[in-house]
Parts: sequence; structure tokens; C-alpha cells
Amino acid sequence: MPSSLDVPERPRQLERLTACPDCDLLLPRPDLLPGHRASCPRCGRTLGKRIPHSLEKTLALSLTGLILYLPAMLLPLLSFNSLGFSDSANILESVINFYQNEYYFVALMVLLSTVVFPLCLALCSFLLALNLRLRRYPAFLPRLLRCYQHLEDWAMLEIYLLGILVTIVKMSDSTGIVYHFGIVCFTAVVLCTVGTAAVLDRELFWRLIEEHGDRPVTGPPPSLPATTARGAGLLLCRLCHKLASTEQAGSACSRCGETLQARKVRAQERTWALIISAAIFFVPANILPIMRVDFLGIPESSTIIDGIRHFFASGSFFIGLIILVASVLVPVCKIVGLSILLLARRPCSPSLLHQKTRIFRLIVFIGRWSMLDIFVIALLAALVDFGLFTAIHIAPAATYFAMVVATTMFAASTYDPRLMWDRCIPCHQPGLVNLSPIRIPRP
Ligand SMILES: [Zn+2]
Ligand SMILES: [Zn+2]
Repeated sequence: MPSSLDVPERPRQLERLTACPDCDLLLPRPDLLPGHRASCPRCGRTLGKRIPHSLEKTLALSLTGLILYLPAMLLPLLSFNSLGFSDSANILESVINFYQNEYYFVALMVLLSTVVFPLCLALCSFLLALNLRLRRYPAFLPRLLRCYQHLEDWAMLEIYLLGILVTIVKMSDSTGIVYHFGIVCFTAVVLCTVGTAAVLDRELFWRLIEEHGDRPVTGPPPSLPATTARGAGLLLCRLCHKLASTEQAGSACSRCGETLQARKVRAQERTWALIISAAIFFVPANILPIMRVDFLGIPESSTIIDGIRHFFASGSFFIGLIILVASVLVPVCKIVGLSILLLARRPCSPSLLHQKTRIFRLIVFIGRWSMLDIFVIALLAALVDFGLFTAIHIAPAATYFAMVVATTMFAASTYDPRLMWDRCIPCHQPGLVNLSPIRIPRP
């Protein structure tokens, strides 16, 4: 395999190299100033960003989130009042409601995404930032950062907050709404969680853990062959983005412990299996009722589409549009988009590849937002229980809908965009020029 990397020099040379996680282009590691970010010159993927005072900001935000976590989870968020009836609910009650109605899968998904994973993320980021700030390097730090990176897509507090807003708009005409202190704590926890994800400089944290201190990568980058990491006999750890030799495939990464693979194993087959499952679950999710309203003992069921129609008919176009996008368009776009990426096996131009990679990144980004409708129903079922007068119950489509969300999210994580670059641009294609990461100062 042609490579200009001298084997005995490799460990030191590898420190000054990186590869793009989306297209596998081998690049000199960008030496970034605080506030700058670098992106891949071939596919546009962000390769890293240097956040000023990342440790201190992560510590402050995660500690604030931890202090407010219990009040945010246990205090009531809202109360609905109607004709002398009143009902309030907190997040845990909305989970218990699903459990009591024997919707165990939905109860588990809501419990994990709104209660368990946000707590894990706050604890992991706090312990990481505290230890690294105090220059202490216990052996469990790599496990904490791995746990943080694996769970961050599955914590969905900001989507729950949007669900609260949708619920308020939905019910504002028919009931009186009282806001409790819990909603202030909950909003603050959401801001802390989102803020921590934005300021936690993953590359800096990994380097501090590995080297027990910030030792900037110095010296000129080795002369690079214009090739991919695989073309140079290297592979990129998909979690911590450290380069290793392809001979180490199958073993654990020396920095984070993740199993090293040049490409995700059986990515095409696994992604196909998951999107076919999602397409099957999508049918009952839309045909069956997702919610049942008992008004004076008379039950009336409604599907997802009925709910969207209700918003448009009552003039709440913006909320109707949000639910339409999150519940129908996002799952359809994910299933169709991933199918197109899997079916398009013919070689194509770099500009088309660039577009396809952007579609893939969009699919990964939008996937979690489909949980919105489930959260709205969780809140409504917990908040509207006025005995015989009126009550809202969850209906069977919710389980299928939660399965659509889970399978499409797993499908996006099993797909490997590097496979389409491998098919279309051979490792040593003459047109593959030797490029440097693009450095972009942040405003
Ligand atoms: Zn790239
Ligand atoms: Zn690693």
C-alpha cells in the first residue's frame, strides 16, 4: 500500500495528522487558536473547534444543571384548570402515566431521554471538567467522556421544552394555565445542557486525558500523500478521532477504548434492516390513533394527522407546521434520504458527493426532533385528567411512533458516509489534491 509515512516515525507523525470522519481525507491536524474552527476542504465537515475557557465554562454550566436537576424533575411544571377541575404534572408523572397505561416501550424511551440520560450527561461533564481543571487524571476519565459522547444524541430535554410550548398553545383556548416554579428550573436545566454541549471541547478533553496536560502539537506536519486515511494504511477512531494503524483494526483504541474499525461493520446491511423496520412501523404509527380524549364519558380517538388538522383548523398554523415537520416530514425524509444514499451506488462527481454528505449530516441532525409528538401526548395525558368530565389518554400508535424514532436514529448511526466516497473516488486519484483544513474564525 503506497504511503509516504515512515513506519518508525509513525507515532509522532500521527499526532500531527487527522482524518475527516465523513470522507476519510488525510489532513494535517489543524493548530487552532481559541475561537476558531476548522473544516474539511473536501466535504465541509467541521473537524474541530477551539472553545476559549472550555473547562471552566463546562464546569460552571454542568454544576448549575446538577443543582437545578432535582427541582426541575420533581416540581410541577404547569397546572390546567377547567370548570373547577385542576390537574398539575411534572416530568416523572408523565413517564408514570405511560407505565400505568402499559405503554412500557414509550415509558422507557421518555424516561431515558428526559430523566436518566440528561442526568448522566450532567454528571459526566461535571466530573470530567472538575478533574481536568484540578489536573487530576483518574483512570475512569476516558470512560466518562465515552459515555458522554455516546449518550448526547439520546438526551432530548430541549425537545421536551418545545413539547411544553406546543401543549400550552394547544390548551390555551380551552383551559386556564397556571405556571409553576418547576418550569423555570426545567428551562434553566435545558439551557445548561445545551450550553454544556456547545462549550465542551471534545478534542481538548481527549488530549488532556491522554497527555495529562495541554501539550500543543508542535513541529511541521509530515509530508502528506494526497490520500485517504485508509489509503495511507491508517484508520480513524470514530469516537475520539485519534489515528491508528489499520493493523490495529478490531482492537481497542489506545485513548478511548472504543473498538477500532476502518469502516463501520456491515454498515449497508444494518442500515437497510433498520430503515425497512422504520418504514413498517411508520404505517401503524399514522393509521392508528395516537391519543384518546374522553369528554363526559364519550371517547374520541385521533391520529397524528387529525392532530395536525386540528391546529390548522383552529388557526395555530405555526404549531401545526412544527408538528407536521417533526412527526411526518422528518421520519419520511430520514427513511427516503437514507434509502437514496444506500441505493445510489454508481460513482458520481465530488460535488454530488459533497451534497450527499450534507444530506446525511442533516438526517443525523433532525432525527431526534420526531420525539416531539410523544412528549406533547405525555404532557397532555398527565395534565388533562379531570375525572369523568374530560381526560386525555395515550393510544396504540404512540408505541409504533416511538419505534420509528428509535430505529431511524439507530439507522443514521450505523450508516457510514465514507463508503460512498470510497466507491466514487479511489484513494490515489490524481485529482485528489493535498489540502489543508480550512480555518474559520468564529464571530
Ligand atoms: Zn471530509
Ligand atoms: Zn478512540
